Amino acid sequence: MYWYRLEQAKRRLLYTLSELGLDVKSRQADPERGLEFQFLEADSQGHGVMTGHNNGLITLNIAEADDAHREKTRTAMHEPYRTLLGHFRHETGHYFFDRLIGDTARIAPYRTAFGDEQQDYQAALDRHYNEGPPPNWEENFVSAYATMHPWEDWAETWAHYLHIVDTLDTAVSCGLALVPDTPNEPTLTDQTPVEDADFDDLMKRWFPLTYVLNSLNRSLGQPDGYPFTLAPAVIDKLRFVHRVVAAAARR
Ligand SMILES: [Zn+2]
Repeated sequence: MYWYRLEQAKRRLLYTLSELGLDVKSRQADPERGLEFQFLEADSQGHGVMTGHNNGLITLNIAEADDAHREKTRTAMHEPYRTLLGHFRHETGHYFFDRLIGDTARIAPYRTAFGDEQQDYQAALDRHYNEGPPPNWEENFVSAYATMHPWEDWAETWAHYLHIVDTLDTAVSCGLALVPDTPNEPTLTDQTPVEDADFDDLMKRWFPLTYVLNSLNRSLGQPDGYPFTLAPAVIDKLRFVHRVVAAAARR
């Protein structure tokens, strides 16, 4: 059951990456730089499994596929989202950082937008878990975890960008349009495929879509499907991700 859930999330991830025109090679096809996954379970001695990315190898702790475990962790960590798909998206953010930013001319504008990733990671991790995120972090970061280190800020922003484009892609494929009678309700009629849309266009459609998504969920007595508000500084970071993805797709 856990493997099935993990594969389902993995395939959705790979679908979105290919829709965006990103070149994803497996480790078999490209032994140096290809992408590889391993799904591991803690052993009987309780040695934990860290979900993470290491040079193209993405590791997921299969406990994340256990709803009760994941939901408990999500609540304890005060995360609005904690999903298998979110983990996959986040970890590929680290993978594509190495591919598209690390050793390229984009490192300078990246540092301007996200900060200097050369700062000590372990010290940043310790600080984050001892002190928590800085006050008013929502004004500059997409999540509390993103405040930890510029690498995590990139990966969290990347994951959020994939949330947005995949949801918009689904809305387009369903032919979803919003044409309310009342003038104050948001409208949505643009059906441009996400891979052809510019960033401002995506953002213009994102707000009406999440408005209706949350309204529908509230009608069902469910929590908001999209419990975020994006500050201008966060939108600028998402724009940076969009540019990097669009440039990589053109190449
Ligand atoms: Zn990370």
